Amino acid sequence: MSQDLHTLTLTQLAAGLGNGDYSSVQLTEALLARIASLDKTLNAFVTVTADAALAAARRADESRAAGKGGVLNGLPVVHKDIFCTRGVLTTCGSRMLENFVAPYDATIVERLNAAGAVVLGKTNMDEFAMGSSNETSYFGPVRNPWDLERSPGGSSGGSAAAVAARFAPAATGTDTGGSIRQPAALTGTVGLKPTYGRVSRYGMIAFASSLDQAGVITRSTEDAALLLGVMAGLDERDSTSIDHPVPDYVDALSGPIDGLRVGVVRQHFDAGLDEKCAAAVREALAVLEARGAVLTEVDLPNLDLSVPTYYVVAPAECSSNLSRFDGIRFGHRADNPEDLLDLYCRSRGEGFGAEVKRRIMTGTYVLSAGYYDAYYLKAQQVRQLIADDFKKAFAEVDVIAGPTSPTPAFKLGDKTDDPITMYLNDIYTIGANLAGLPALSTPCGFVEGLPVGLHLVGPHFGEAALLRCSHHYEQETDWHTACPESYR
Ligand code: GLN
Repeated sequence: MSQDLHTLTLTQLAAGLGNGDYSSVQLTEALLARIASLDKTLNAFVTVTADAALAAARRADESRAAGKGGVLNGLPVVHKDIFCTRGVLTTCGSRMLENFVAPYDATIVERLNAAGAVVLGKTNMDEFAMGSSNETSYFGPVRNPWDLERSPGGSSGGSAAAVAARFAPAATGTDTGGSIRQPAALTGTVGLKPTYGRVSRYGMIAFASSLDQAGVITRSTEDAALLLGVMAGLDERDSTSIDHPVPDYVDALSGPIDGLRVGVVRQHFDAGLDEKCAAAVREALAVLEARGAVLTEVDLPNLDLSVPTYYVVAPAECSSNLSRFDGIRFGHRADNPEDLLDLYCRSRGEGFGAEVKRRIMTGTYVLSAGYYDAYYLKAQQVRQLIADDFKKAFAEVDVIAGPTSPTPAFKLGDKTDDPITMYLNDIYTIGANLAGLPALSTPCGFVEGLPVGLHLVGPHFGEAALLRCSHHYEQETDWHTACPESYR
């Protein structure tokens, strides 16, 4: 058996399992051993489900021997700790849910399990997915495998770090304003946020329901395509999931990108973008052009309004969604309350961290009588303008390309005192959430040893074109195969 199973992608592992080169149990044991020895420093996991993983791997090996099993049979994945997993701790990175064992599986967990996936554990994340650095987690920050002093991004930082450090070939994540794509960019992995409604949100703990979308972090575009095919599609239990045909995303990778119209957003290269990141992105665009893509400039004139708009809409929705965590219906309950009010106040005061409280307070404020029109309603109007900008751009181009994040990974602690600087990390990613569009980040180079991401956005249900574009790019470059030195 190869000693290097951790270096392989899902697609490569599927081939190896199929050939009988190794069993799922051997693969699972190898990855669990890696996690046990290396995750003490990274802190990518909240929970490792070793016994359940080995049991699932054994079942996968048995079904393979019987000539059965789904497309992911015996393949390891990890889940962001925002997805409910039956019988397993599901904390959402919060003290509020420190002891919450979910009584059911999220739809995507169920679908991946049904396809034969082996779940190794639950990954660390910013508390209730609010953050861009993983530092708001109750379970401590996650470290970036490329530089332990730096953040892996957030809020799906544990998932991104786990994939980058070769603990697992693939992870699920959620993206409300960039939480899959930004950590993917900062860790040199591929991150895909599908169209709003493409993948079920059932069993995914809600942050901002009109923006939240489940997706994946992988080490190749092909793997992202494979997983999306399993996860996507109508779910009767999520009224916002859409009944739209699910194409064969892996099949769609091989089509040409000759003549693909790629829009380069003028505003993306304004001040604010690190010059060396800009250079890496421009080089990536030149690679696409050499493969036959046609580059044109497009305008997103309201881009600078996307962060302020998001920071009204997302807190408004979160203040409503998180009201259920009151110590009675859900979540942490304070000891020895004096009366009901004391119970509510202390349960929520103790259960939530500072960033979550800041969002709840902002959200309650913008929804309050007297401020609703000035803030919430206005934000909804601007949200429409931003969606219209994209619509106009997509009348002329098939894909919009630019940087995922304004800088490479920043140092832990660098932005924690200044929420606004932290919020600006998502300047390029938030628009896709406000407009419900699919987007992905793919590795496109390094700046001073730190990975940089190329961001691609498509029209609604345009995942196949994004994936194809990214896959073509990977044929010409090997950034996505680079591995941090201590994790080879
Ligand atoms: N960083 C953004 C925030 O803090 C986005 C988070 C996310 O996508 N879940 O809200």
